[in-house]
Amino acid sequence: METLKSKIRHVPDFPKAGILFYDITTLLRDPEGFRAMIDSMVTPFTGQGIDLVVGIESRGFILGGAVADRLKVGFSPIRKPGKLPSKTVRETYQLEYGTDSLEIHDDAVAPAQRILIVDDVLATGGTAAAAAALVKRLGGHVHGLSFLIELLGLNGRARLPGEHVFSVLKY
Ligand code: AMP
Repeated sequence: METLKSKIRHVPDFPKAGILFYDITTLLRDPEGFRAMIDSMVTPFTGQGIDLVVGIESRGFILGGAVADRLKVGFSPIRKPGKLPSKTVRETYQLEYGTDSLEIHDDAVAPAQRILIVDDVLATGGTAAAAAALVKRLGGHVHGLSFLIELLGLNGRARLPGEHVFSVLKY
């Protein structure tokens, strides 16, 4: 895990002052690092009957696509408002200042499908909680959530009560 951590670039004050940004592009371009990251994100969920991976824009697409391929299942995207072309459902959630929204196609998840939600970073948990709410509104069963990075100080897990939350790297 220390090897994986060493491949992630830390960018202070991005996208704004006071934020330490975990830049995974340096890990993504590393072949061994990429494979080890996906291996680690998938391991707790292999043989668990996952039907579909749902990934959150935008780094969740890169990781989620690879995780889906490894689990031999399909992939559905959750995107920022106005990006998905067909009929969508929307979830709006609270930020520190203001609100944000996410959308999913209304046919992206079939009722009772077992869903694994994937993203790169679990920070405050607002994004992941909105993603879980969207999956449930479509009748899907959130089997688990897999993250590369969890920022423990922000306690995002508290926004995901009762969910199986897994993260590879903790900071
Ligand atoms: P949150 O809703 O606060 O859990 O934020 C999670 C989303 O914001 C994820 O999609 C991450 O990609 C992104 N994010 C939040 N904090 C960071 C950070 N420090 N470095 C990189 N990405 C972050």
